[in-house]
Amino acid sequence: MTGIAPGEIRTTCAYCGVGCGVLAKPDGQCGITVRGDPDHPANYGRLCSKGVALGETLSLDDRLVAPRVNGAEAAWDDALDLVANRFTRAIAEHGPDAVAFYVSGQLLTEDYYVANKLMKGFIGSANIDTNSRLCMASTVAGHKRAFGTDTVPGTYEDIELADLVVLVGSNLAWCHPVLYQRLAQAKANRPEMRIVVIDPRRTATCDLADLHLALEPGSDVALFNRLLTAIHEGGAVDIDYLHHVDGFDAALAKAGCEDGRVTGLRETDIRAFCDLWVRTEKVVTVFSQGVNQSTSGTDKVNAILNCHLATGRIGRPGMGPLSVTGQPNAMGGREVGGLANALACHMELTDPAHRNAVQAFWNAPAMPQQAGLKAVDLFDRVADGTIKALWIICTNPAVSMPEADRVRDAIAGCEFVVVSDVTDRTDTAQLAHVLLPATGWAEKDGTVTNSDRTISRQRALLPAPGQARHDWDILADVGRRMGWGAAFDYAHPSEIFEEHAALSAVAADFALDFDISGLRGLDRSGYDALAPIRWPITASGTVERFFADGHFYTADGRARMLPVTARPPAARTNPRYPFRLNTGRIRDQWHTMTRTAKAPRLNQHLGEPFLEVHPDDAAALGIAPATLVAVTSPSGRCVLRASITDRVVRGQVFAPMHWTAQTAPTGRVDALVASAVDPLSGQPESKAAVVALASF
Ligand code: SF4
Repeated sequence: MTGIAPGEIRTTCAYCGVGCGVLAKPDGQCGITVRGDPDHPANYGRLCSKGVALGETLSLDDRLVAPRVNGAEAAWDDALDLVANRFTRAIAEHGPDAVAFYVSGQLLTEDYYVANKLMKGFIGSANIDTNSRLCMASTVAGHKRAFGTDTVPGTYEDIELADLVVLVGSNLAWCHPVLYQRLAQAKANRPEMRIVVIDPRRTATCDLADLHLALEPGSDVALFNRLLTAIHEGGAVDIDYLHHVDGFDAALAKAGCEDGRVTGLRETDIRAFCDLWVRTEKVVTVFSQGVNQSTSGTDKVNAILNCHLATGRIGRPGMGPLSVTGQPNAMGGREVGGLANALACHMELTDPAHRNAVQAFWNAPAMPQQAGLKAVDLFDRVADGTIKALWIICTNPAVSMPEADRVRDAIAGCEFVVVSDVTDRTDTAQLAHVLLPATGWAEKDGTVTNSDRTISRQRALLPAPGQARHDWDILADVGRRMGWGAAFDYAHPSEIFEEHAALSAVAADFALDFDISGLRGLDRSGYDALAPIRWPITASGTVERFFADGHFYTADGRARMLPVTARPPAARTNPRYPFRLNTGRIRDQWHTMTRTAKAPRLNQHLGEPFLEVHPDDAAALGIAPATLVAVTSPSGRCVLRASITDRVVRGQVFAPMHWTAQTAPTGRVDALVASAVDPLSGQPESKAAVVALASF
């Protein structure tokens, strides 16, 4: 490796699933300077606006620096004894499913591993779910249906090698900016490269597009079914590759019944897209929340995968589907089994052999036999009192969950709520009986996995403020206090990483995709020095891309094409709620702004919650630019500043989801979102609420 200056420390940005390498230099006064790591394979020195501002988000003014119990400062021993005792009592009186953890894709893999082990192996419940459920659960479900495992086949490099890049439900320019920069550079180098953006809204990403398809919300399956039919009619089916695939005929038959008109697109545009796809061998389809956050999200994923499987355009340089995750460590959470329906190392909770292997490895007293509560169901059970003790770690569900007002009230009514976070100023932290001060970026030490399976180190640059502790350490301490000392006797994150690597060797006996057994045996210095590396990492080496050889992880080793049909969003517009609300991110804020709002330059981009409204709709409702608009849905109400723009089409509006009761009391947009979910993935439909508008 090259390019590191004296005093610089290699670490990884915490703001999205691109997982950019950062060179950070502490200034000796609790500040740091940052620049992009020229050697990191995710970004090769690039950073976006959020990454550049990392050093401006470290002030301690709002930090939680000591435990609190019922609002009063408490000693760690007293706070953790209380947590252990209340969880133990709830389990004794009501069973293990009376408790739950709700965690985060911002946790490091080591934190995630310990949380999952404590809940699934020792408490004996699978009631641990994560805010990644809101991010990419539909991709996980789609991957598993098609490949047998949750495997991302390709790499970021494939985007640059492709001749056609199709971006579906992905505002890459704002949500994964460094990948967008790589794509823009590739197109500048090879102007013949073609880019298609499929998105109801004309986002900043469309600036790079040769073709923008503003399809009707939720109609992606219809468009990709049309494509599958065109692939067949155009002679682009790879007959040899189909020997490795089941379900082609059924998927094609279903696709042939699809009415492309539900996309709302002109027939000429659909044909132009299909023709381009059919005649271009090197195609990468990048997809993100616009696909996942839908009641038909899993089917959308499979409709995309069907086209790549039918053509064999998967796992080869410049070809394949590529899911990009919103969160910095959504992938790490998937690897340790952080979802309520998963087990560690891509093993299956519902497979007795997998379950027994993990139980034996952990020497665990009690493993759940079935999946736990997914996020929306979990908070429903908090609301009805089934969950008696809830521990929320590193996330803010009182703002970010759909029907956020109802979720906030459910947490407020729960018998016992623990929140671990860096600050007490989140909407959720305000509801906690016990508040535990956790370390944050620049203080934490561990690993994360980005969207193309690259494991990178996040390294501590600064000391923990006050009495703050690492999440893995807090969780392990509670595990010991609940009576499982030997299983949670960790002194350093390298020991957890070693255990995870050893468990992956157990998973390798089942011939699964996830394998980091080649990293076993790292001592602390080896762990400290670990360079970015893409899994799988076996004793014999790594694999760049999966599936080019036609081997999949189903029982018979063949992939599955799924017959899927377009379904509209669950909520229908009607005279009372005539507008379709799309929600999403803005370029310079991250999640509920706990950190990014500290950087003045990030607040200058878009400084308050807003609503994009088409000029014709604004005129019809008498909404003038920059005036306030009352937005109501069946579940909530917001007041937002009107941004009159033709980026949205008539009948649709868009609002960002970052603001909280602390930063903009009337701007909590997820209060408007219904909690309808995809039946397979449990992922909420965050982009298709129905709302009414009125000038305020
Ligand atoms: Fe950080 Fe994502 Fe920006 Fe990279 S693209 S610097 S990981 S926010």
